[in-house]
Amino acid sequence: MNNKTKVLFVEDEKSVSNFVVTMLEANGYKGMSAATGREGVSMATSFCPDVVLLDLGLPDMDGCEVISQLRSWSKTPIIVISARTKELDKVTALDVGADDYITKPFGSAELMARIRTSLRHSHPETPDHVYKAQGLEINFEKRTVSICGRDIHLTQIEYRLLTLLAENSGRVLTYSFIMSTIWGPYIDDNNQILRVNMANIRRKIEKNPAQPQYVFTEVGVGYRMIENENV
Ligand code: CA
Repeated sequence: MNNKTKVLFVEDEKSVSNFVVTMLEANGYKGMSAATGREGVSMATSFCPDVVLLDLGLPDMDGCEVISQLRSWSKTPIIVISARTKELDKVTALDVGADDYITKPFGSAELMARIRTSLRHSHPETPDHVYKAQGLEINFEKRTVSICGRDIHLTQIEYRLLTLLAENSGRVLTYSFIMSTIWGPYIDDNNQILRVNMANIRRKIEKNPAQPQYVFTEVGVGYRMIENENV
């Protein structure tokens, strides 16, 4: 089979990359690995992988530099895999063009789910005009939101915020990305306006806003909405 989805893993720790490549192969992907940033960029150029998994701590260059180089010519989804738990690293990686990140140690189910999500976003099927997850339904054409058939009334900003997250469901969106998309590039860095609107949305859609089931907070990074089931 030559038409397997190709996943390139850039990681200098041999044991980790062997493990992940085996996991990828077991899940029907063609797994490839590169041990340095330079090798990663060159393999991405020659093999055109469908997804790139990237460790941030590489011996020859910073992972973020790899992302910038790939992004100069490629739209291939990049999922950062990192032991770094510092929020700033995640935000920087996302801001330079990574699509998502996963923190070590991670489970195989979680990694496979992230890969599927990134593939779905890079090859959107016939765009469906309805988002559905656990009773929440957003109809992008009619601009309606309902929970188990009950209409939810959102303000214009709340609706735009919720649909932005729904259109990117399953992926984390950074605070700064959301802020500049909804309020424009000149909005200041203070996230207060975003937090207030998110609190209002949660009050309207979540059973328990303190333990959300639809929109999750990625502390210090941004928000991630539960995956669309309607795909
Ligand atoms: Ca490493």
